[in-house]
Amino acid sequence: MSEATETLRQEVRGWLEANVPPNWREAMTGCSQDAFVAAQRDWFGKMVAAGYATPHWPAQWPGGGRSLAEQKVIYEEIARIDAPRLILYFVSLYHAAMTLVEWASPEQAKAYLQGILDGEIWCQGFSEPNAGSDLAALKTRAERKGDVYVVNGQKIWSTMAQYADKCLLLVRTGSDGPKQAGITFLVMDMNTPGITVRPIEQITDDEEFAEIFLDDVEIPVANRLGEENQGWAVAQSTLASERGLTLVELSQRMRGMLWRLTDAAAKAGRADDPIIQRELGEVANMVSASCAVADNYLKRRIAGEERIGDASIVKLYYPRALRAYTSLGMKLAGATGQIHAPFTAGGSQETGNWPVDFMNSYAWSIAGGSDEVQRNIISERVLEMPREPKNWKVEG
Ligand SMILES: Cc1cc2nc3c(=O)[nH]c(=O)nc-3n(C[C@H](O)[C@H](O)[C@H](O)COP(=O)(O)OP(=O)(O)OC[C@H]3O[C@@H](n4cnc5c(N)ncnc54)[C@H](O)[C@@H]3O)c2cc1C
Repeated sequence: MSEATETLRQEVRGWLEANVPPNWREAMTGCSQDAFVAAQRDWFGKMVAAGYATPHWPAQWPGGGRSLAEQKVIYEEIARIDAPRLILYFVSLYHAAMTLVEWASPEQAKAYLQGILDGEIWCQGFSEPNAGSDLAALKTRAERKGDVYVVNGQKIWSTMAQYADKCLLLVRTGSDGPKQAGITFLVMDMNTPGITVRPIEQITDDEEFAEIFLDDVEIPVANRLGEENQGWAVAQSTLASERGLTLVELSQRMRGMLWRLTDAAAKAGRADDPIIQRELGEVANMVSASCAVADNYLKRRIAGEERIGDASIVKLYYPRALRAYTSLGMKLAGATGQIHAPFTAGGSQETGNWPVDFMNSYAWSIAGGSDEVQRNIISERVLEMPREPKNWKVEG
């Protein structure tokens, strides 16, 4: 660890100790949506002002241009003190920002990225009822009429859409040739007439995502990222961020929270049980491996050496480690630990509320592309194995 990184660590630690809202977990457990939104907005504003919300942004933006070592220090310290997760701004800070950095015109980048720093919430409108894993099968249709696209269709599973100001929207503008060739990428203002958002209630009692219904929604052509019918390439930037970059932070979080398992083992009176010790060791190894895989990805990305499929390796590994972590937590918590307890909003994936954490860990095997699809990408694009046959169907 260099002297400069150690200095940064002390700065970040000092700032977090002075600023993390005390007792935020108690305040955010089973709280109202208004309380959740207000708390997230407040914490986001503070993190942006301190420069710790955007270490992965380019250097010309406040807080950006941090090296891998510096980014890790920030994430480690956030995990160490157990600060709230910026779930309301997750899409804005990562998926949207990284897509804009690669694809927006200078004018678009200036306006949209500044909007994010000012607190705008973004959501991602990719999935549809019949187009998730097979994303290119999407049917939401956009017809160009002069300076606007008129959009009709439906999106689903859109994280935080019920609070969002803007949406990263994939629409169909063409039907000739391969299905990937007729897709366009638009930025949609969520206040445009014709948009209806309906939150989806989850098994955990949370409403993390929503459906979006689009009825003759007019989106200016000036809001397009990349060229018409070239949106598939733009979407790959969003997916690479979703599958790789975000998991650098979340893997560090999981490592910072390993103490919850040792704590649970002690509470269960099983700290000296050799079987539990072995299982703890296995989980700790998986969590370290998840951090290493994510670090390796970020190293390549910073060096401009990212390959297609690299992000899928991170995306495949993290949920396995998270599942092992939460499963062991469930086991240690025993029968009484499985009694339903309220969800903590903004509480990350390792809250010590084991039933909720365990159920949430499965979401990570689906969000951003399911495990099976990541395996397909790795086998075809990284290992160069034969491609999956077209018109794949489950037998029986
Ligand atoms: C917590 C969470 C947050 C999300 N947030 C967003 C968001 O903000 N915006 C957004 O647009 N979407 C979001 N999603 C949706 C997510 O991207 C999709 O759920 C995902 O891509 C899977 O698509 P699907 O649900 O249509 O499943 P399906 O495609 O119907 O898949 C069902 C099953 O079949 C398997 N399968 C399908 N095709 C193949 C194949 N070719 N080979 C092998 N197996 C296959 C899948 O792996 C899966 O197990 C989110 C999902 C979750 C869980």
